[in-house]
Amino acid sequence: MRARDYPKEAARLLKERPQVKEAVGGATRHFDQNRQRAYREVDAEALREWARRVKDHLLTHLDLYLEKAEAALKRNGVQVHWARDKEEARRVLAHLVREKGVRRAVKGKSMLSEELEVNPLLEGLGVEVFETDLGEYILQLLGQPPSHIVGPAIHLSLGEIRRLFHARFQTPLDAPPEELAQVARRTLREAFLSADLGISGANFLVAETGTIALMENEGNIRLSTSLPRVHVALVGIEKLLPHLEDLAHFLSLTARAATGQRLSTYVSLIQGPARPGEEGPQEVHVVLVDNGRTALLADPEAWETLRCLRCGACLNACPVYRQTGGHPYGYVYSGPIGAVLDPGLLGLEEAHPLPYASTLCGACLEACPVKIPIPRLLLTWRHRAVEEGLGPGWERAAMRAFAEVMTRPGLYRVFSKGLRGLLALPGGEGLLENRDLPLIRAWTQGRSGLRPSPRPFHELWEEA
Ligand code: SF4
Repeated sequence: MRARDYPKEAARLLKERPQVKEAVGGATRHFDQNRQRAYREVDAEALREWARRVKDHLLTHLDLYLEKAEAALKRNGVQVHWARDKEEARRVLAHLVREKGVRRAVKGKSMLSEELEVNPLLEGLGVEVFETDLGEYILQLLGQPPSHIVGPAIHLSLGEIRRLFHARFQTPLDAPPEELAQVARRTLREAFLSADLGISGANFLVAETGTIALMENEGNIRLSTSLPRVHVALVGIEKLLPHLEDLAHFLSLTARAATGQRLSTYVSLIQGPARPGEEGPQEVHVVLVDNGRTALLADPEAWETLRCLRCGACLNACPVYRQTGGHPYGYVYSGPIGAVLDPGLLGLEEAHPLPYASTLCGACLEACPVKIPIPRLLLTWRHRAVEEGLGPGWERAAMRAFAEVMTRPGLYRVFSKGLRGLLALPGGEGLLENRDLPLIRAWTQGRSGLRPSPRPFHELWEEA
């Protein structure tokens, strides 16, 4: 699937798998209600405004904070690697796998690892990889990518998961969720204990102290980062925070936005490899990944996208995302944030349908903990798509004709009179509701037919 195929894939999914809409709609509404309740418990407006300012300060001084972070990480005994793009990041990882003789790896949920396609890379190197987040593990068994940033398997029903586990682990077809979780837990325990390499992302990296902060609810990230002898954290360069004192508020704000929790069940603060007498990994590596982020930072209209905390709140609030979940977006990041981030990371030519995957209702902006102006960014990308002539040819011709008519009052009157005359002809009355006409059929698939008002607006206006 590719981002440019979004309209076709979304329509196909709605037609062929209507149950996805039910599963995604139910779960996202639940998350969104929890977020709203959690925001009401605090002065969310003040907190979000503060968080916006901290991230803006960080992004406008990113070069300095990256240097600080590198120095602090090295002081902590962490080995730092820089990756300009996906290929460099994969080369670093491949080198570490070979050098450390890695045979088995466990992974915590990380959107950046999806962006870098880490699993196929490791498998190609002969490494057995285990996704350890329960949702991600289920998707790994199914060979599917995540559908949501926080709830990767949000598009699946309990029945589908039961059937999968029945086929895979011979659990009863009516097994309760707890039993399914226990089966996954047993398999993953064995993987945690025998893995040589643990891979994680990072929710935050504190520049001042070199602290890698990880949030989760299952405990799998803590096990992935503490049991194997080598831990590699893949960190997007925008994930930094300036100071340790910023972290507590960001942890709470992210949890409130993501799931409505005051704090996630587990927070791991990693400060380097195990010291003598301590248990934990012998080596910790941080790979600082750019992969299009500095280009986005240099974009005067789109740089604010980089404030994103990957909390998923905008997905939960979005009436368009709720219809299909994330798969039809065709790239790692879906929903409102995907619609403005993907054109920046993939290029507009590849991702140009995504900024149109929105009603511009503004729910995403209201939900966003760092106040990313998604509706404005959507319009920016749409504007650029038009400027670059990326829409279909018929649409460009139709919009040019529309603009011609609408900017010339005389022409507009002639056109509207002509159309009314046409509709007044015998049989013309139902023309705009005739579903045999392709354009009308497309319009009326989800809407009522078009009915012009008895008198045109400009006539009523002149009388008023
Ligand atoms: S854009 Fe805002 S709401 Fe959406 S994932 Fe990023 S931080 Fe969360």
